[in-house]
Amino acid sequence: MTPRLRALENHPDQWLQVRPKGLYCVPGDFYIDPHGKVDRAVITHGHADHARAGHGHVLTSPETAAIMRVRYGKNCAGAFQELVPGTGIDHFGVRVQLVPAGHVLGSCQIVLDYAGWRVVASGDYKRASDPTSANFEVVACDVFITEATFGLPVFVHEHAPDEIAKLIGSLDTFPERSHLMSAYSLGKAQRLIAELRAAGYDAPIYLHSAHERLCRLYQDWGVNLGVLHRAEHASQDDLRGSIILAPPSSSREGWADTLTDPLPCAASGWMRVRKRAQQSGAELPLVISDHADWPDLQRTIMDTGAEEIWVTHGREDALVYFCETQGLRGRALALIGREGEGE
Ligand SMILES: [Zn+2]
Ligand SMILES: [Zn+2]
Repeated sequence: MTPRLRALENHPDQWLQVRPKGLYCVPGDFYIDPHGKVDRAVITHGHADHARAGHGHVLTSPETAAIMRVRYGKNCAGAFQELVPGTGIDHFGVRVQLVPAGHVLGSCQIVLDYAGWRVVASGDYKRASDPTSANFEVVACDVFITEATFGLPVFVHEHAPDEIAKLIGSLDTFPERSHLMSAYSLGKAQRLIAELRAAGYDAPIYLHSAHERLCRLYQDWGVNLGVLHRAEHASQDDLRGSIILAPPSSSREGWADTLTDPLPCAASGWMRVRKRAQQSGAELPLVISDHADWPDLQRTIMDTGAEEIWVTHGREDALVYFCETQGLRGRALALIGREGEGE
């Protein structure tokens, strides 16, 4: 259907609204990634600022449902409806489909078709390949809702295998030092391990207890993470010259104080900024991210062919300006509760 044949009163502005609890689909009576408890939620992925406990009904991918149950408990939603990526349902006249977003295991874009208009809500996404996540798929649409976590020209991520080679090189240079990698427990930790395995690193990798359950879940879903051990059960001898993954807060808890001369490492898109890398205390900062960088945000907007771009979740202004330079209508969506995702 061409735009001219579509009733303008059915423009997505009318039926997809920013409400206090998040983005709300009026005809479908559901929210996308609401940050407050709602009757019906469609959830893009398992990070805490998108997936919350306490909704009545949750529609999401099987992997994200599993992640939510592990993080929040079996009864974290009244009911789960699992939709396999690539399939769709009709709900009160709205066609809802999930399509891989490439961000973390199970992450999906939400594709909505209503009254001749197609809207794609990306959730968080990346275009770089990741052994732990299905690749992002471009979906042609009228309105593309993009995240903008790294929506500034300074943010250009490195190729992950090149950064992993630096980590392996550092282990060769400092064979006596434990490499203490700070990484968030959903997504980044598993991706680092899988990239290490893909690079041929086959020694046991040690985990802080905070990472154990989600690593097991990834393995249950068929992601090869190799041999993993709990760091607190290991001897100082075992840990010497090994890689230990721990959440970013663990050094503050004093847990890392028991290690002899650890080498602190971090992997994040923020490591591109010298000041952020210094603040992290990492001796080895790696620029590895699960979000699209500035060039990939721009490329993806153009790839969707959308005439209208709604920007959320980060640095909206620069991306809205980019849209305008391309003759596209850019709009900053003022969603609350979208700050501070660990990356
Ligand atoms: Zn995320
Ligand atoms: Zn996010």
